[in-house]
Order: sequence, then structure tokens, then C-alpha cells
Amino acid sequence: MQGVGFRPFVYRLAHSLGLKGWVQNLKGNVLIHIQGEAVALEQFTSTLVQQSPAIARPVILNNKIVTPESLPSFSIRDSDSGLNADIHTPADYYTCKDCLQELNDPHNRRYRYPFINCTQCGPRYTLIKQLPYDRARTTMAGFPLCTACGSEYNNPLDRRYHAEPIACEQCGPQLQYIEKENCIDDTTGALNKTIEALRAGKIVAIKGVGGYHLLCDASNDAAILTLRTRKPRPHKPLAVMFPSVGDDELELLRQHVMLTDTDARLITDPARPIVIVEKKHHSGLSEYLSPDLSHLGVFLPYSPLHHLLLQEFNQAVVATSANISGEPVLTQQHHVQQRLLHITDCFLHHNRPIARPADDSVVRVIHQQARPIRIGRGMAPVELTLPHCIQKPTLAVGGQMKNSIALAWDNRLVVSPHIGDLDSPHSLTVFEQVITDLQQLYEIQIEQIVCDAHRGYASHRWAHQAGLPVIQVFHHHAHAATLEVEFPQDTPWLVFTWDGVGYGADGSLWGGEGLLGRPGKWQRIASFTPFRVPAGDLAARQPWRSAAALCWQAGLEYTAPLEHELVRHAWQNNINCTSSSAVGRLFDAAAALTGLIENASFEGQGPMLLETNTTQLQQTATLPIKNIDNILQADWQPLLPVLQNHTLTIKQRANYFHSTMAATLLEQAMLARECYGNFQVGLSGGVFQNKKLTEQVITLLEQNNFRVFFNQQIPCNDGGLCAGQIMEAMQNKH
Ligand SMILES: [Zn+2]
Ligand SMILES: [Zn+2]
Repeated sequence: MQGVGFRPFVYRLAHSLGLKGWVQNLKGNVLIHIQGEAVALEQFTSTLVQQSPAIARPVILNNKIVTPESLPSFSIRDSDSGLNADIHTPADYYTCKDCLQELNDPHNRRYRYPFINCTQCGPRYTLIKQLPYDRARTTMAGFPLCTACGSEYNNPLDRRYHAEPIACEQCGPQLQYIEKENCIDDTTGALNKTIEALRAGKIVAIKGVGGYHLLCDASNDAAILTLRTRKPRPHKPLAVMFPSVGDDELELLRQHVMLTDTDARLITDPARPIVIVEKKHHSGLSEYLSPDLSHLGVFLPYSPLHHLLLQEFNQAVVATSANISGEPVLTQQHHVQQRLLHITDCFLHHNRPIARPADDSVVRVIHQQARPIRIGRGMAPVELTLPHCIQKPTLAVGGQMKNSIALAWDNRLVVSPHIGDLDSPHSLTVFEQVITDLQQLYEIQIEQIVCDAHRGYASHRWAHQAGLPVIQVFHHHAHAATLEVEFPQDTPWLVFTWDGVGYGADGSLWGGEGLLGRPGKWQRIASFTPFRVPAGDLAARQPWRSAAALCWQAGLEYTAPLEHELVRHAWQNNINCTSSSAVGRLFDAAAALTGLIENASFEGQGPMLLETNTTQLQQTATLPIKNIDNILQADWQPLLPVLQNHTLTIKQRANYFHSTMAATLLEQAMLARECYGNFQVGLSGGVFQNKKLTEQVITLLEQNNFRVFFNQQIPCNDGGLCAGQIMEAMQNKH
């Protein structure tokens, strides 16, 4: 409830009804003492909830009668930092309509000022140093208010009353443009120069709310190819920011992409996430934004700086996180100047410090629901309620790729924003910073740590060196447990955890498992025939290895790239091979066998290409399923002749593959129901980011009277692992 203009709203309401009392922030909750005539009190209570500011969404937790105090009027009391109430950290919000209007009003004193904000909008999470949320405890502390801002800030009837990051041209942050030796220190000049650079096809690193972006013209092929070469990022889709045009802000967007009502609602949500939507072809945007894929991540400007840039530029821009591949987004000017010098032509900095990074959030609508792919700015930190209380304050350190961490204490669970892949020193620094920082924000001291059982994970090693008791959780157990966090149930689960790779309880690499039971008590009852992948750690980037593994195991020929003979020799002699049952690898193999890809430049490229080529799902036979040691094992072998059949088009084969995988999941669920009785079905793991597969799976399951649950608040990919780890740790008896 902090930082959303709720106290001033209460103040104005109390005044209008002639009531006396006070309102006070208690670290996230608000305490109101109100006294007066019964009728007015009743009206106060109902209006309080119904007409509160849009982003406050208040709930009355507790309501009791107290002894009236001798009070002259209604007042707003200072936040009490000594109280031990629930702490809630507000997320970063977009620029509200009122502020946008002022931004474009030549008579307003904040006309074209890139850091305009109010109680209803602006950054929060990324500039708070400590709670409770007061200006002195934010990164705005270094900007003393000018007289005009001061009087707004202190006037309870002003819409900027206690807008903590309030600022103006006179007293607030400023822009700075740097290109080689040139440095422009005035805000207007810096803005104009940036627009000029974008028009000239240059790549600009621009400081935003939770970190820097790399921007360039989204219809300029040459600019995008330069960005791709320099980064290097040959194929991975780039997010595109569109100017707000029209009453619903979506007019320009609609010319380039297909929007369902749910997509439109998400794109204009105060969190302003990147939403993955269908492209329209030949719309004038560069084909290099998401080469050979049918979808694109799009979003609207959310900070006043982005609004000013896009209004002026008047076209879509690439706006991708400024980082080194897979690392956390960069937030510091000196880091950006050092580490991105070879990528960008120029820089647009500002001097409002970013307290902690938050990448843009990414969501995709699957089965009519928004599913987070990446939690970041606008959504983070995600605060959830645990089904019951945890014994000790616990930290879950997540996985290796797409890492995020979670804190749990009492019945609370807080999930950090996306941190990144933990492969570099910089990632680990940020990882540790977020761990320290969230404990400080929520005033929690952790007493135990949960980590993935995989010894090769940097988070696993960090956990074992931290000097606290450690609980290890298997990767897919954690995936499965995320559903119990979101949808607590009394009955058992059957969770299909399909992903690329994870260390399994039997020492092999899992990723195609059906897990029956509850957190802390999972039984693996469904899987796929294991296959031996040569140099398994390379498999994610080299889909042909998975294709070769399946063919060779089935006694079929596979002609692979150059290193073919060496790899085949290694495979035959079982040198450096890992046994896997991962569906993610089956998708890779299918992409390679249909001829879509041999080597991927980013994880998931093969499956994405395959999804793009899937046009219509059909009724198909399921794969044969055998009960082997109480595991319903599906045999992928019948897929191979179809995937390799070059008389069929790629689309026909992609359709067949998706349909067969969905039918096989259903069949495993049906067989499990015969053996084990009733359960609800859960879906988790990165494979289910595939919209076409997941929608087909849910439809089939529901047609057959299964209750189906799929992640809605935390990512189904490894970004959600930390939440599942907490759930597993709660069942740990040690
Ligand atoms: Zn505003
Ligand atoms: Zn000012």
C-alpha cells in the first residue's frame, strides 16, 4: 500500500466527511483512526475501498471500535519505522495519464521534464533503499526539493502530496548525452541529440527505470544487423517499444501485430510488461527483429523519458536490455561505459541512481491467461502467501539459468526479479546483492538455504559456502511444487514437468517427468525412454546432438555437421554422454530432424522455430507407453520416421510432432488415473512456454475431465524454481 497515494486519499475523504482522526503507514499496511457520526463513518468505510486510487487496491484487514481521542482534525502521521508490521515493497509503475498530460502541456512547469511522476505513478522498487517508503530512504534523497516541489509535497490536497520521487527541472535529475568525446549536459539538448542519433541509425544505450536499454530504429535493417553483430546476438528476438498512439495507446501497435483483448489489457497494464504476440507480416518492421519466428515481444513506453523519446521519434524502436548475454541488466554508468563501448555509438545517461536492477517483465497469454516468462520491473518483487507458515526464515537460491531467488518467513514468500544466468562474476555479484538487499528491505535474517541438487550450479556452490544449513531439492520436484504455491490443494497432484534439463533423483538428466504426490513426497510415475546425448552440456546449443542421439539409439542413420565421426565414436563408446529423458531435447531433435536448425544461437531456438511452423493441431495416435518399474515410459521412436520424411512439409511434420506430444501427455494422465485414482494435473517447466503445445494439452485434459493448473504468478521456466524450492523445504523434516 506504500507509494500509491492512499494516505492523501484517506485524508481528503475524512476531510470531506468532517471526520477526525489520523492515518499512518505501518511498513506496508495502513492504520486509520477515524471518529465522528455513525452515518459519516459508514460512508467513509464504503468509499475507502470503492473509490481508492486505481493502483492501491486496498483490503480492510481488521476493523475494531476504539475509544475516541481528543483530536482537533484529521491528520497524516509520520511513518513508524519502529513497528514490526508486514512489510510490502511497491513495484515500479508506468507514467499515469495526469502526468502525461502535464508532460505535454507547454504551460505546465514540468513540460517535457523526463522525470515527472506523482503518487499514482513512477519508480518505487528500483529506487527504494530502505522501508518505510519515504523520500529520505530513496535514491532521490540527494535531490533537495525546490520551493515549488516542496509545497506540492507538503500539501495534503495536492495530487503530489508525499509523492516520494517528486522532481522538476529545477531540483530533479537531469539527462546527459555522451558520444565519443562529446558530452551534452542539458536535458533538452541531450534528448534532441538522442533522437538525431536514432534517426541516423545509431545504437544508443539509454538509462531507464531498472537498468539500461539498447535502442535503435526498429524498421532499420542495417541498424538492427549492426546491433546483432556487435552484441553478438544473431537470432534471439529483440523486444520492440511502440509509441502510444490513439485513445487506447495501441493504434500503431495494431498496424504491426495481432492483439487479442487479453494482450491489449496486458500491454496497457500499469506494470507495462513486454507481451509476446503474433506478428503481422510485411508491416514495415524489420524482419531481423525476430527472424523466422511468428511472434514478437512488444511494449509501450512506461517512463516519461521513454514517452518523450518515442513521441518525438514517432516510430517503433528496438529496446533490448543492455547487458552481456544472459547477465543481469546493467544499471551503473561506469559499467555501461566500459562494457558496452563496443556495442553502442552513444549513451543517454541520467543522474537518478538505480538502487537495484529490474529487467523488463515478459508475459505471454496462454490459454487466455497471462503467464509470466520473466518477472521484472512493474511486477517485482512478487509477494505471495504460503499455504502455511514456514518454520525458519529461508532463502531459496533458484537454478543456474534465468536465476531468481526467493525469501520466505512466516506465511510469506517473496520472489526477486529475474537476475540472469549465473555464468559470470558480474551475475554472481548481482545475485549476492539481491540476496542481501531483499533481506534488508523486508528486515529478515535467513537461517537456512535451499538450493538445487545439481553440484555444477553456481547457486548450489554458493549455498554450501554460506555457512548456514542447506536443504537440497531436485530440479523437477521444485518445478512441480510451484503449483502448490499458486494453487494449494487437499488432493494429490500429477505434475508434468517438461523442460530442457535438470538433475534427477536417479542421477540422470530429467525433463519429461510426470510426478505424482505433494511437495516433499513426489513419485516419478511417467517419463520418456531415456536417450544418451553426446556431450550433453552442449545439447542446448546444438540441437543436432539430440537428433543424432535419437537416431543412433534407434539404429537409424543421421548425418551431422563436421564433428560427426568423432561424436559418433564417443557416443558408441559412451564417452562423455549423459542419459536424458528431457522433452526439451525431443523438441530440439525434432527441429533438427525437420531441417529447421542444426546449431542454435540461443537456448530454445529450435523449439521456437518448430512452434512457429505449427499451424494446426490434429487428432493423432499417442506414442506407445510401457510400464517399466512403475514408470509409464513413452517411447519417442515412432516420431523419427515421420520427422525425417521429406515428402511431408515442415509444417505437416511440426503439426504432427506437437499433436503427438500433447496426445501422449493426455494418455499418460489417463493411465495414471486408472492406476492411482484422482488427482489434479499440473503443468510446469520451460517446455510449456510453447503456447500451441500447452493450449492443446489443457484442452485435451479438460475434455477428459481433468482439473488442470498452470503457473500464473511465477514463471513456469527456471525463473520460478526458487518458489518451488521453498515449498519443498517446508516439507523437509531436518
Ligand atoms: Zn502520475
Ligand atoms: Zn522541483
